Amino acid sequence: MDIKLQQVSYAYGKDTPFEKYALFDVDLTIPHQSYQAIIGHTGSGKSTILQHFNGLLKPSTGEVHIGDRIIEAGKKAKELKPVRQKVGIVFQFPEHQLFEETVLKDIMFGPMNFGVSEEEAERRARELITLVGLPEEVLEKSPFDLSGGQMRRVAIAGVLAMQPEVIVLDEPTAGLDPRGQKEIMDMFYELHKKRGLTTILVTHSMEDAARYADRIAIMHEGRCVLTGEPREIFADVETLKKYRLEPPRIVRFQHRVEKLIGTTLPKGCLTEEELAIELA
Ligand code: ADP
Repeated sequence: MDIKLQQVSYAYGKDTPFEKYALFDVDLTIPHQSYQAIIGHTGSGKSTILQHFNGLLKPSTGEVHIGDRIIEAGKKAKELKPVRQKVGIVFQFPEHQLFEETVLKDIMFGPMNFGVSEEEAERRARELITLVGLPEEVLEKSPFDLSGGQMRRVAIAGVLAMQPEVIVLDEPTAGLDPRGQKEIMDMFYELHKKRGLTTILVTHSMEDAARYADRIAIMHEGRCVLTGEPREIFADVETLKKYRLEPPRIVRFQHRVEKLIGTTLPKGCLTEEELAIELA
């Protein structure tokens, strides 16, 4: 299922004295099963764009195509239900949305709300708890007795329980320690690779975009100013500078290594450890 934004503009408080445009004529295509990063400084329009991926916001003008569905101004909420099931959003600090008595009930809540049987919802919860790296005993606990990192994993399992085809991650590692950050990012990368989940990562981390994404879009003042593969984007240092961005450390390191050994290394998402091995 491809996602396409065509000439999307969005104004908060449209036709009121407080009208404020946050997106201007954004064109962006995210192909089926790709890993797309969307980067930009605070206020560049990342959160606004991400809410267009499942119809939480509808464009003021332009169209959002999600598979064969078209979202445009004036679409009714009812028509968007299938889209909401297919596109899961992991919001920043998703653990704040946990509310059930037990972890099991929390993970089952979304699918049951969408008409999935209790047995099937439970089966999904049991499978997913392991997949997000938690022991099965956790299912019987109250989510509020878990650590912050564990709560985040439970919340992620809740989004995955809807069996989305596309997952949108809004700064998914915010507030985690470096180890927790890497574990979560690696987990999403595995899901993307093994289950073919189209992944959209909204981040201000150039490092994460370079390591994991195969496509990057740069947002600046509500416009999508640059799109391409990490290698092309990070090689364009002049354009990056114009938008007050600089190539991530990992890519700068990779370029240095390439100069040294005189060949091009595979992709912009090698770890420093892997590069060290390449050099050994
Ligand atoms: P980012 O996620 O990149 O920080 P946002 O999409 O949150 O950017 O914001 C883009 C622009 O829209 C900013 O200028 C911001 O002030 C404005 N904005 C965001 N939310 C609202 C809102 N609810 N009402 C009015 N303006 C908003």
